[in-house]
Amino acid sequence: MRPLVWFRSDLRTRDNPALAAATRAADRGVVAVFLIAARQWREHDCSPARADFILRNLADLSASLARLNVPLRILDAPAFADAPRTLLALAREQSCDALYFNRELEVNEARRDSAVSAAFEKAGLRVHPFDDATILPPGAVRTREGRFHRVYTPFRKAFAAEYARREGVSLAPSPRRQHAMPCPPDAVPAAVPGFAASERPDLWPAGERAARRRLVAFIEHRIGDYHAQRDAPHADGTSLLSPYLAAGVLSCRECLLAALDADGRPLAPAPVRSRGPAVWIDELIWREFFRHLVVAFPRLCMGSSFNRAFDSVPWNPPDERFEAWRLGRTGIPIVDAAMRQLASTGWMHNRGRMVVASFLTKNLLIDWRHGERHFMRSLIDGDLAANNGGWQWSASTGADAAPYFRVFNPVTQARKFDPDGAYIRRFVPELAALPAPAIHEPWTLPLSQRSAIDYPGPIADLSASRRTAIEAFAAARDRPPPR
Ligand SMILES: Cc1cc2nc3c(=O)[nH]c(=O)nc-3n(C[C@H](O)[C@H](O)[C@H](O)COP(=O)(O)OP(=O)(O)OC[C@H]3O[C@@H](n4cnc5c(N)ncnc54)[C@H](O)[C@@H]3O)c2cc1C
Repeated sequence: MRPLVWFRSDLRTRDNPALAAATRAADRGVVAVFLIAARQWREHDCSPARADFILRNLADLSASLARLNVPLRILDAPAFADAPRTLLALAREQSCDALYFNRELEVNEARRDSAVSAAFEKAGLRVHPFDDATILPPGAVRTREGRFHRVYTPFRKAFAAEYARREGVSLAPSPRRQHAMPCPPDAVPAAVPGFAASERPDLWPAGERAARRRLVAFIEHRIGDYHAQRDAPHADGTSLLSPYLAAGVLSCRECLLAALDADGRPLAPAPVRSRGPAVWIDELIWREFFRHLVVAFPRLCMGSSFNRAFDSVPWNPPDERFEAWRLGRTGIPIVDAAMRQLASTGWMHNRGRMVVASFLTKNLLIDWRHGERHFMRSLIDGDLAANNGGWQWSASTGADAAPYFRVFNPVTQARKFDPDGAYIRRFVPELAALPAPAIHEPWTLPLSQRSAIDYPGPIADLSASRRTAIEAFAAARDRPPPR
């Protein structure tokens, strides 16, 4: 038996169910493969930062696999439709008799996997898919009536009950080293045409070891205070692991087990707000919730609002105010700081994500889908389920979303979570010399001081735009659904 292992968003050797099973089943060696789907990546709004992160992690993965005598082949298959032919040709060339992979959950990815599986089965080759992208398999957490949950808190409760019923989760066994490589590995390209290489690879060092170092450092030094520090955007109080989780360089089960260990207790049956590790575990379960949702409601992958009532919100076109938002030139310091953090690092703090998403969808009344796409095109951790979940939560159109009448006031948010203005000073240097609290609303300064700063006035009146948004959402909610 010579398995072909197909890597996608599981770029690691540790706790990798497909790799573990393939290396154990093999008796004639194993071949691994990754497909570069440049056209599909563009259609899916993959950011250059993410493409670059994938390539850098592939180089590390290739070296780890080589130590196991498993060559990593890198093939071009520009669109998902090219995957069946490309993989089957490789399987034939290398005399592989089975395909192993970890399932991806999004609609196009799942359809691609079905097409690949059908092609392999038709050719008489076996297919072994595994669950990996979540802690518990999508579908394992349901209501008493067998339906998928639409609201987080009952999902959280059912998740804990199912986790306990299964007596937890364990990591996949280590992959087995093979006797010899069936073929040499391919060189990993330094860049893919159309996706610029990162200018700051040092911000997000690649590889499983780097990911685990981050996890261990977080667990040892910061998780204890996570509940107190997680909302401060300048504090580095979160794990900064999202790019590694999104690319599968680190497994979500490993994160959960490490946090449970730090907490020193079994998984709590409901959210706990007072202990860092328990609060962090809840974030992992939010990730899980959004992932289970895209499987239950595939239309989430197709740009559809979860709550159809808000399909008729009269969104404004993405005009020059959208451009100002994109560039971090809205004149609202906390919004601009967060948008510039995104542009300069490929990442944004969760508090920033919530503030800028609320500002775009409520104060500017611009469709969340424009924001979702801009995030995907910019984020190093772009992840359809979490991004869609976050945007629809913020826009009040999602499952268990923020109620439409609760509109974040960015100035209040800034005063509460960035009281000294440290985050703003870091990313909006024009305002660095201003003291707090003036730094949060520079438009309140006397004109003489204001005109000395090269910083725009606010593009929206926060109170008036809030009222307009609430009225627009209320009217949409009360409108009869389109036939
Ligand atoms: C509008 C919006 C868009 C978002 N887009 C993405 C995205 O594309 N990719 C992404 O990974 N996260 C996204 N998030 C969720 C969250 O902001 C990031 O996961 C988090 O900021 C990453 O930082 P961290 O790794 O330090 O998180 P930590 O606070 O350390 O949390 C640990 C892990 O839990 C997961 N997680 C945390 N919060 C959430 C959440 N609210 N929803 C889902 N998973 C969560 C992430 O995998 C994260 O790495 C979005 C949130 C919003 C409001």
